Amino acid sequence: MTVLGLGAMGTALVEAFLAGGHATTVWNRTPGKADGVVARGAVVAETVAEAVAASPLVVVCLWDDAVVRDVLHPVADALAGRVVVNLTNGTPAQAREMAAWAAEHGVEYVDGGIMAIPPGIGTEHAFVLYSGAEAAFEAHREVLERLGAAKYLGADAGLAALFDLALLSGMYGTFAGLWHSLAMVRTENVSAAEFVPMLGPWMQAMIGGNLDRLAHQLDTGDYGHEVVSNLAMQAAAFPNIVQASLDQGIRPDLMAPIQRLMDQAVAAGHGAEDVAVVVDLLKN
Ligand code: NDP
Repeated sequence: MTVLGLGAMGTALVEAFLAGGHATTVWNRTPGKADGVVARGAVVAETVAEAVAASPLVVVCLWDDAVVRDVLHPVADALAGRVVVNLTNGTPAQAREMAAWAAEHGVEYVDGGIMAIPPGIGTEHAFVLYSGAEAAFEAHREVLERLGAAKYLGADAGLAALFDLALLSGMYGTFAGLWHSLAMVRTENVSAAEFVPMLGPWMQAMIGGNLDRLAHQLDTGDYGHEVVSNLAMQAAAFPNIVQASLDQGIRPDLMAPIQRLMDQAVAAGHGAEDVAVVVDLLKN
């Protein structure tokens, strides 16, 4: 196959394909970046058109959607009849626009979201989301499995980006809480190394152990059953986090929106329910 983009991620993708014994042609804007993978057997193309012409499957991993369009649009004719698997991070709307553009030009388009960091590619820890042209995806599933477990979500090209960004939201939201908690304890010269042994098990107990229950609540819309820590109680205690942060000289920016959301949920009459009810209130 062909891989367009030899950044940290593109290079990891090429290495996984090569390790699987797949002949791989590569192109990158900055030519020197190909040296490492060429030493492992990749063939370097001088131009995008030459790279595209080399393979029926073109995997794209570039900076963002604008770069993808700048790189692919001039070679639309060369792409006709080929499969493009775009693993560049983007929005569902961008993916759907790319799919429409591809359809106009006779290109089979699959959008994807990589749920791994470069060293995880090709390991059991990686999975990659795909959506779009199903037959094209299935035709190349085996080779794509080299990158990580392949999860096909449906013919709507926007689905992979939606799931990808939702999963990243879970990650960044969790990071935000971790960052804030570390900032708080560090105001008293507590080292991060001293604190994280409490943080890990606490997060595991609060998040990992509760996901099935959360899913059940959301899918049934029943937030009032066997509530052990109701929203009103949590909303009453939450301002202490914000106030203590201010007292300790820490910006409450990451926590304040949570307080607002909880207060709105209580004001809307959900105080006796589980805090998960706020998910419904996020709908715009
Ligand atoms: P890098 O910054 O390492 O690489 C960016 C790539 O985009 C390079 O190949 C770069 O070429 C190319 N590029 C940037 N601007 C242009 C341009 N104007 N024209 C042509 N090519 C251009 O990023 P990554 O490889 O890490 O990320 C690539 C994609 O993978 C992103 O969408 C990212 O969100 C996604 N991703 C990355 C993960 C990670 O942990 N790294 C995890 C999951 C997804 P050049 O070498 O010439 O600068």
